[in-house]
Amino acid sequence: MMAQYLELKAQYENALLFYRMGDFYEMFFDDAKAAAEALDIALTKRGKHNGEDIAMCGVPVHSAEGYLLTLIRKGFRVAVCEQMENPAEAKKRGYKAIVKRDVVRLVTPGTLTEESLLEARRHNYLAAFAEIRGEAALAWVDISTGALHVMQTSPVRLGPELARLMPSELILSESKFEDYAELETEFGLSLTPLAPASFDSTSAESKIKSLFKVGSLDAFGSFNRPEIAALGAIIDYLEITQKGKLPLLRPPVRESVGGTVQIDAATRRNLEITHSLSGGRDGTLISAIDRTLTAGGGRLLARRLASPSTDLKTIQMRQDAVEFLVENSALAENLSEALRRTPDLDRALSRLGLERGGPRDIAAIRNGLTQAETIKDTFPEGLPELLASAAKDLSGYDELVDLLDQALVADPPLLARDGGFIAPGFDEELDEARKLRDEGRSVIASLQAKYAELADISSLKIKHNNVLGYFIETTATHSEKMLAAPLSETFIHRQTTANQVRFTTVELSEMETKILNAGGRALEIEKRLYSTLTEAVLNHAAEINLAGNALAEFDLASAFADLAKGENWCKPNVDNSRTFDIIGGRHPVVEQSLRKQGDTPFVANDCQLSDGSDGADIWLLTGPNMAGKSTFLRQNALIALLAQAGSFVPAKSAHIGIVSQIFSRVGASDDLARGRSTFMVEMVETAAILNQADDRALVILDEIGRGTATYDGLSIAWATLEHLHDANKCRALFATHYHEMTALADKLGGVENATVTVKEWEGDVIFLHEVKKGAADRSYGVQVAKLAGLPDAVVNRARVVLDALEKGEREGGKQKALIDDLPLFSATPPPQPAPAQDSIVEEALSEIIPDELTPREALQVLYDLKEKA
Ligand code: ADP
Repeated sequence: MMAQYLELKAQYENALLFYRMGDFYEMFFDDAKAAAEALDIALTKRGKHNGEDIAMCGVPVHSAEGYLLTLIRKGFRVAVCEQMENPAEAKKRGYKAIVKRDVVRLVTPGTLTEESLLEARRHNYLAAFAEIRGEAALAWVDISTGALHVMQTSPVRLGPELARLMPSELILSESKFEDYAELETEFGLSLTPLAPASFDSTSAESKIKSLFKVGSLDAFGSFNRPEIAALGAIIDYLEITQKGKLPLLRPPVRESVGGTVQIDAATRRNLEITHSLSGGRDGTLISAIDRTLTAGGGRLLARRLASPSTDLKTIQMRQDAVEFLVENSALAENLSEALRRTPDLDRALSRLGLERGGPRDIAAIRNGLTQAETIKDTFPEGLPELLASAAKDLSGYDELVDLLDQALVADPPLLARDGGFIAPGFDEELDEARKLRDEGRSVIASLQAKYAELADISSLKIKHNNVLGYFIETTATHSEKMLAAPLSETFIHRQTTANQVRFTTVELSEMETKILNAGGRALEIEKRLYSTLTEAVLNHAAEINLAGNALAEFDLASAFADLAKGENWCKPNVDNSRTFDIIGGRHPVVEQSLRKQGDTPFVANDCQLSDGSDGADIWLLTGPNMAGKSTFLRQNALIALLAQAGSFVPAKSAHIGIVSQIFSRVGASDDLARGRSTFMVEMVETAAILNQADDRALVILDEIGRGTATYDGLSIAWATLEHLHDANKCRALFATHYHEMTALADKLGGVENATVTVKEWEGDVIFLHEVKKGAADRSYGVQVAKLAGLPDAVVNRARVVLDALEKGEREGGKQKALIDDLPLFSATPPPQPAPAQDSIVEEALSEIIPDELTPREALQVLYDLKEKA
């Protein structure tokens, strides 16, 4: 057995080998050590190899999925090795023959299909990056839905694309592996090297052609060499990991580069669109606005938010769909009702395609298509374009649905293995077999009464277990009578236990054989029907995909409509101008969290960047810390993003000329993983913006230059603003704490000052969160510090220093002299907390060790304490 193990293991050096032994997957040697640690399970040993103990650990097959998930999350890949025959079959080949085993699947982060291992509302992408002579392409697939995409890109654009797609695994040619090794930590993905041969575009082309059964790739668009190579690498890798059993893939869709808003990795992080700064979903835009009712709709929302469109017609079509549902509440209500009952068509279909599905997946297809028909029937003619074209894909499945309706019970079990999912009346042969089986069972039930009477033992029972099958049981006290004639002529002794004696009869075992045969036949028929049904479903795979897409489209429009009504959002007027005119805009995430806390309501603000001239349109925003500058900056970027994703927006009104790129440099965070200081990161990101932003870009910059000395910082911020104005000529919001910069508004035609207002009251500062034209008069830093709880002595001292500095600046004094003139720091010693006098109760409390108390004692202690108090 070890020889077999080692041979298999040698083929999967980089994976843990799950070696099937009966009801367990066992791991050996280093695999066992690594897995035992990662899974926190016991490490044992079994036998010796070359004189040394073999380390071993194992997980039960029935709960393997959970363990798999943990291992994949921790960065392992797992080769699943199954028994390809049962021990009896092996025995036939020879007394010591070992059961044949083989790896049936290599589980990696990008190739998961199990419902429990996937997030329903997120795509799980496997991506491949190919470079050929200076040209590059990225292909990606979600094998759990079959969607396959490809686009041209470049090594520089790779980062932003990865940030958009967030694949869980990226395939690269071995020869390029080193160059991109840092992507692994930067995007939290798993990098997989593949032999350069897998990226060969010529063999890739024939692979794709034979997979999709076409004579030429032109049917899907025109692809360049790197695109074909990247697609080929994906197909190759799927063949390797799925052991030749390819998932159902849809034909590759080519994504054009200019069709979506360009958003780089840093901006995505800053705006927390689909992933928060800490990586989760909490606090993101998507978590605040997701009202989709189906998993497919949820995934579509994530795609739209990650890649808003730049095409006016597309945007308007999406908005019209939302508007239609906003205005037709009754229809929207019916739609929601149907969507709520719609299961995940895409993923059910993909599992069936990979032969990893079950009756429940077939039922999901039936239920999904039934709801699709219902939706189609509720909608009248004259729908807006997007919904009308989606509606076309919602019907035409009558034949399949009828078949599945008749064939399946309402709530079938998860697995086909145990049967019981085919509805009665669907197959005569099956009904008959089931009838025999059930009749046998009732005959057996009636036998009990007959035998009890015959033996005159009222406590006689007929029971069943897996070892004996059906048997008659009496207590040991009756054994003498049962074992003697005449009863012994009927009852055949099987087993004696401490308290019971067990028998069978010829009649009983004949009945049992009948039941077993009938049951076995029923199961076989069900399995055969299962294959037929799966095939019927898979024959319609392409159409079911279309229906899935259409349902997602309806779901998203309905979710946006629901959001727009519930949150009082407006339909933005998007056009090809360069306007950016938001009245009463709000930050969807901050507004929601303020509401949850029950705090002050969110203050809506206008942002009007358009001055009609054709130069840049920039607002220079000043105001103290905590006033709401970052919130204002981000909210405007999010409003643009939402508008172009096809949603309504959180504002009273919005007029937005299409934005081609969104850039943001907000807040400062160290990128220690890559060994860069905050300032360096800030400058790298600012450089990227200044080098790339075009006149259709929307740029938001927050506190540029904060990470260095004052004059350095001010100069950099100053020059940056000038560059945005003169060279990039983009729309921008620029927040700064350098008041000196407000003078720029007079110099540069496209720059206007704005400030977030605060009120000063008895030395404290009150934030009004209102954005107004004009410059802030001062920065209130000391007041904010006081709010933050800096000791009074420090706050007072800071005031003195500030006064002196301001006075010195007004009078042109030298800093050195100024410092010398300052009165000495006279900190009153911080108030000492009064020495604590333990009360009797506290003393008693300190003596209690809760872990050592029984619940009863704990209750008593409470009574005692109450008395002492
Ligand atoms: P700044 O960037 O000026 O330091 P932030 O944008 O981080 O300030 O805002 C600080 C806090 O003020 C936010 O966490 C939020 O709770 C609150 N806030 C910001 N803008 C508003 C607003 N328009 N209405 C209500 N509260 C706001």
